[in-house]
Amino acid sequence: LNLLQKKILTDGVIKPGNVLKVDSFLNHQIDVPFISELGKEFKNIFAHKKIDKILTIEASGIGIACLTAVYFGVPVVFAKKSAGSNMDTEVYTTEVKSFTHNKVNHVVVSKKYLNQGEHILIMDDFLANGCAVEGLMDLVSQAGGIVEGVGICIEKGFQGGGDALRAKGVDVRSLAIIDKMDAATGTITFR
Ligand code: 5GP
Repeated sequence: LNLLQKKILTDGVIKPGNVLKVDSFLNHQIDVPFISELGKEFKNIFAHKKIDKILTIEASGIGIACLTAVYFGVPVVFAKKSAGSNMDTEVYTTEVKSFTHNKVNHVVVSKKYLNQGEHILIMDDFLANGCAVEGLMDLVSQAGGIVEGVGICIEKGFQGGGDALRAKGVDVRSLAIIDKMDAATGTITFR
């Protein structure tokens, strides 16, 4: 087992509806030295690629994106779920069906921060059905950028989003892929 898989087994909690809670270290309270180690791992995985920018989605992807960006020395852009009043009017926009909240969010990025020809690493804390990643890929494509890869902390493999993306040729790398999880017994099986 790798670092993240061990941490999931000790600190993760399986909730009804195929939701894994890891908010003690990943997406509510953030264990910064630990997540930074994951960032280092992503740097190793994508070291051979040219990465100009990391793109994620608010809020829970921001931590891992920033702690990976430190090792690449590149900026992070996060797609916003609602356009605030001070948001630029020139935006790329797409729709993302939220797995955890079961609603459709319009997500936006200012045209200033995604540019033609940029090499983008997409990151998120979780990959389930793949809607969040597909929305982010759509934003990059609207801007004329190039998706170099997708870095995910925890992929719920049984929901199929990751494999569907791989089948389309997307370089999806997940530090932990869960093939099975059972709320009744609390057991988690990794790929
Ligand atoms: P997808 O769009 O791939 O269906 O789901 C990924 C998004 O939903 C991620 O941005 C993540 O925040 C959220 N998500 C999906 N499954 C889980 C889960 O089991 N636990 C948590 N905490 N978030 C999840």
